[in-house]
Amino acid sequence: MKEKLAINGGPMAVPEGTIKPWPPIDESDRRMVLDSIDGGSHAFGPNCKAFQEEFAAWNGNRFAITTNSGTAALHMAVAACGCGVGDEVIVPAYSWSSSATCVLHHNVVPVFVDIDWDTMNIDVTKIEAAVTERTKAIIVVHLHGLAVDMDAVNAIATKHGLKVIEDACQAHGATFRGKKTGTLGDCAAFSFNQNKCLCAGEGGMFVTDDEALFENAKQLWSFGETRTPLEDRDYHAYALGWMYRNSDLPAAFGRAQLRKLDGYVARQRENAERLTERLADVPHLILPTEPEGHGHNWYNYTVRFDMKALGHADDDAGFRDRIVAALKAEGIPTALWQKYPLPAMTVFQAKNGYGHGCPWDCPHSGPVDYSPEQFATARKHADRHACLVVPLRAPNGPEVAELVADGFDKVMANVEALNPDE
Ligand SMILES: *Cc1c(COP(=O)(O)O)cnc(C)c1O
Repeated sequence: MKEKLAINGGPMAVPEGTIKPWPPIDESDRRMVLDSIDGGSHAFGPNCKAFQEEFAAWNGNRFAITTNSGTAALHMAVAACGCGVGDEVIVPAYSWSSSATCVLHHNVVPVFVDIDWDTMNIDVTKIEAAVTERTKAIIVVHLHGLAVDMDAVNAIATKHGLKVIEDACQAHGATFRGKKTGTLGDCAAFSFNQNKCLCAGEGGMFVTDDEALFENAKQLWSFGETRTPLEDRDYHAYALGWMYRNSDLPAAFGRAQLRKLDGYVARQRENAERLTERLADVPHLILPTEPEGHGHNWYNYTVRFDMKALGHADDDAGFRDRIVAALKAEGIPTALWQKYPLPAMTVFQAKNGYGHGCPWDCPHSGPVDYSPEQFATARKHADRHACLVVPLRAPNGPEVAELVADGFDKVMANVEALNPDE
């Protein structure tokens, strides 16, 4: 398709107004939220309790605690697993910042492991080399909605007596060997931020099947108390606590959306499959994969550009940015997800945590090395990726995926027009 690119004044592949925003809202959302407003119990109210029960039932967990963010649920998980000063927690070198800062929140030292190029998830073959006598837990991130190979992770955890925390903030409804994420480790965190597959505006959920972890997490969640606001509270701080509770309005919104979640995930799969079919023959694209035994939820459809074949191996991020600008001009809401490997972020490079070098220089901690060259795959991925989120979400259907594919086709067929010297 040798057509003039939209960025150079040609027609757009995806006309404006085609792609509908996320999430779809209907009468059930409005009714639930308005009922909450009229209900008079706006803090931790009846919708919070019901949301916990309904989410636990949907996901297949014994216990669930709703929080004001996924990050709060991650911090609760780190604390619930007994991680403390002097301990280390293994995290992937490429994720959302709070997959690693949740470790710092509890004055614990994160230890990074590079990612696997094909899955974009933590490289399970490199985890064991990062285990030290201080390691307490592994945080696996089911990135973009693709579950980590949990057979490999759980085998290492069992061998070394480690807890496994799932960062399932992007992985609602994703599966590994037929089991849902959030049921594959010791405990897990989900996010209900607007971009996630289940939107409550903001919010999150801590889930576990382990009663002791549930009790630990609950304490940190609500001022160090042992009882929830719906029980007979004694207002006593038994332990160091935060205030991570959710309130009734977002819980009501989340409950309304939860009823539609299976349909949303099915639509994402359908759209992603159509896109993959159509993009398979477009040159220089490296498409995301769904390995045997994994059920992707397609939270985020991430492509990489073959910069070597394009002749831009040395300015990969720069040329990627040109391609992304061209895709956006075609009307495709193409985004960069994380531009930085986590250990490259200033908070880690400067070891800028609780002051006085804590937790890294604390006498209880061991040495860790955040030198960037250890995380070459994360860097290469960060520099070569681009992602699609909203075009694959409901209410958008395969007809939108087709238009998006047309746009990719057009841009990649005319990619030389994006060379800096043309
Ligand atoms: C969104 C996200 C989080 C944080 O969730 P919030 O609700 O925004 O705090 C953590 N980890 C991953 C992988 C995420 O995508």
